[in-house]
Amino acid sequence: MAVSRPRSPLFLQVELAMVIKKKVTILGSGSAGLTAAIYAARANLEPLVIQGLQAGGQLTITSDVENFPGFPNGILGPELMEEMHKQAERFGTQFIYDNAESVDLSSRPFKLKTSSDEIHTDCLIIGTGASAKLLGLPSESKLMGHGVSACATCDGFFFRDKEVFVVGGGDTALEEATFLTRFASSVTVIHRRDSFRASAIMANRAKSNEKVKFILDSVVEDILDVEEGQVTGIRIRNIKTNVVTEHPADGVFIAIGHKPNTELFVGQLELTENGYIKTDGVKTSVKGVFAAGDVQDELYRQAITAAGTGCMAALEAQWLLENEHEEGNSVGKPQAEAKEPVAQKG
Ligand SMILES: Cc1cc2nc3c(=O)[nH]c(=O)nc-3n(C[C@H](O)[C@H](O)[C@H](O)COP(=O)(O)OP(=O)(O)OC[C@H]3O[C@@H](n4cnc5c(N)ncnc54)[C@H](O)[C@@H]3O)c2cc1C
Repeated sequence: MAVSRPRSPLFLQVELAMVIKKKVTILGSGSAGLTAAIYAARANLEPLVIQGLQAGGQLTITSDVENFPGFPNGILGPELMEEMHKQAERFGTQFIYDNAESVDLSSRPFKLKTSSDEIHTDCLIIGTGASAKLLGLPSESKLMGHGVSACATCDGFFFRDKEVFVVGGGDTALEEATFLTRFASSVTVIHRRDSFRASAIMANRAKSNEKVKFILDSVVEDILDVEEGQVTGIRIRNIKTNVVTEHPADGVFIAIGHKPNTELFVGQLELTENGYIKTDGVKTSVKGVFAAGDVQDELYRQAITAAGTGCMAALEAQWLLENEHEEGNSVGKPQAEAKEPVAQKG
């Protein structure tokens, strides 16, 4: 879709970019975005998916997915997303591999820009997800899906009778620690302070569980062993004494929070106090803009819930366009997918 243009030797130049006109555009190609695309494409809406730089979304960084219905023996995350992509493509979805860099939701059609395209769309479905915050250690990303996880609900089952560590001190960390005791032989919570941000009830529940241990005032220095290709241990530094200790481990769960990918919508859509898109069902505060998946879900954050809300968003967009078409509103009128040139500074 990107329009290649010869570069002028002048630094300032006026270029011709193409405006792509769409009835439905979807931001994000995780479970939410691709499910929305399958539904919108099957409703003959010829949706456009702006995939973002993580095509396939979060499941592309994990290995086995065992809780997505339809795969009794599990499926690899990247493979599941590849299949969803093919399914959306089969019904006529178009894809752009780029990030949306700006959006203007002040009037319909909404206007989006990527690095090389401008898109005008009657409806917008946002499925930009929420990224798990990570520690930033090279070993953490190399061992993600090989003993390192950011989701106890998703991966706890793989750690039956294993020794696992949970990093974090908020509600999520202590809830995940308690949840993991269903499987693991021991669960050690590492927290950089000597008290928890978590609610008293959650902290007490974890503290009263005999499988849960705590290492406080401490940070993770490294996760071992990248050369073996799986987690075998964890190196921890006490920040008060600077003493470094190494512990055998089979799994490390990072539970230091999530960051919804909503920067583009600040000031344009209502957000929750944690920065997620506020929704009523999947409707946002702007008519014609829908949000699906983790970007609007602080609670469940699962592939299947993302897919479910992706379906809902596509149906809502379809119904809105149909209603507007019946009422004769211009925005809902079928429009040619013609491209119009517009002047743009390059
Ligand atoms: C390690 C790991 C393992 C997991 N395992 C499981 C599991 O086993 N089972 C399960 O149900 N869930 C699992 N999850 C959770 C699951 O991955 C998420 O709930 C699901 O991916 C959410 O889908 P989504 O479509 O809302 O967002 P995401 O999958 O996060 O996709 C977001 C999409 O938005 C795109 N994007 C972001 N910004 C922009 C932009 N500016 N412009 C355009 N596109 C943009 C990204 O490129 C990406 O394609 C796991 C998560 C992690 C991190």
